[in-house]
Amino acid sequence: MYALNYVKAKSVKEAAELLTANPDAKLLSGGMTLIPTLKQRLAKPSHLVDIGQLSELRGIEEKGGKLVIGAGVKHHEVATSPVAAKAIPALAELAGVIGDPQVRNMGTIGGSVANNDPAADYPAAVLGLNATVVTTKREIAADQFFKGMFDTALGAGEIIVRIEFPLPKAAAYSKFHHPASGYAMAGVLVADTAGGIRVAVTGAGPGVFRWKEAEAALAKGMKPEALEGLALKGDDFNEDIHASRAYRANLVRVMAKRAVAKLAGKGSGPAAENQR
Ligand SMILES: Cc1cc2nc3c(=O)[nH]c(=O)nc-3n(C[C@H](O)[C@H](O)[C@H](O)COP(=O)(O)OP(=O)(O)OC[C@H]3O[C@@H](n4cnc5c(N)ncnc54)[C@H](O)[C@@H]3O)c2cc1C
Repeated sequence: MYALNYVKAKSVKEAAELLTANPDAKLLSGGMTLIPTLKQRLAKPSHLVDIGQLSELRGIEEKGGKLVIGAGVKHHEVATSPVAAKAIPALAELAGVIGDPQVRNMGTIGGSVANNDPAADYPAAVLGLNATVVTTKREIAADQFFKGMFDTALGAGEIIVRIEFPLPKAAAYSKFHHPASGYAMAGVLVADTAGGIRVAVTGAGPGVFRWKEAEAALAKGMKPEALEGLALKGDDFNEDIHASRAYRANLVRVMAKRAVAKLAGKGSGPAAENQR
């Protein structure tokens, strides 16, 4: 780890000012991704601006037809929130299968979405539920937010303040844990929203994406069999010793079918297929 300056911000405004004054500074939220990155000397920020304790970034509430979650809310809080469980049960279930208890007690939704790991779970929820990412500068629709591997629409010095999830008519998430990392080897969130059916896929490709063919097929009938004839090409999918591209492409379809079965009330069970 390189030497750096640590600053505990007293407000979001102060954190934003510190980022502007120090272009090589980085925000620190739960630290679950950033601290290992620093330990491996893969990043060399001049300052760490700690926003992990800010009350302005906390809170889970349902208002105006939306579930609003502060950027600093930890995964465990979402997983165990009665408000989240009532508003969007699939989201609470998804939060409950992120990492392990230590990660869920430290990691935050804002940090996860800002980081945009290609195998992270929350990006599938944000994209699949057509959420809005509210920052210190603007509101960004999910379809415009995720730009590719570890890349988002966030600009320099821009801080995620909260995420607003419109309440879907129904939604379900199915995840197959990567056996080594515990992240998603494939995770699929299927949602029946006011704007139509949305299917968001994480883990398989270089970044979260919408599976438009599946959305069109499910719009004709929300049943697992609707996905039977569909095949993802997966030319750009991830490949490792655990799964080839073809395996991941098939796994996406399997996870999507299971999510649809849960959503249509024909299936039950946890958000993850292989509990760790
Ligand atoms: C062992 C392990 C297993 C894990 N398994 C999973 C898993 O199964 N699924 C999964 O989804 N994730 C998993 N994670 C990642 C975990 O969910 C992290 O919490 C998440 O990636 C980052 O959140 P954080 O709050 O820790 O952010 P940090 O590590 O503090 O920050 C991450 C990045 O986001 C930036 N950032 C933080 N907050 C904001 C903000 N409000 N606005 C703008 N930028 C911000 C930081 O500057 C940094 O660049 C795992 C992590 C570990 C260590």
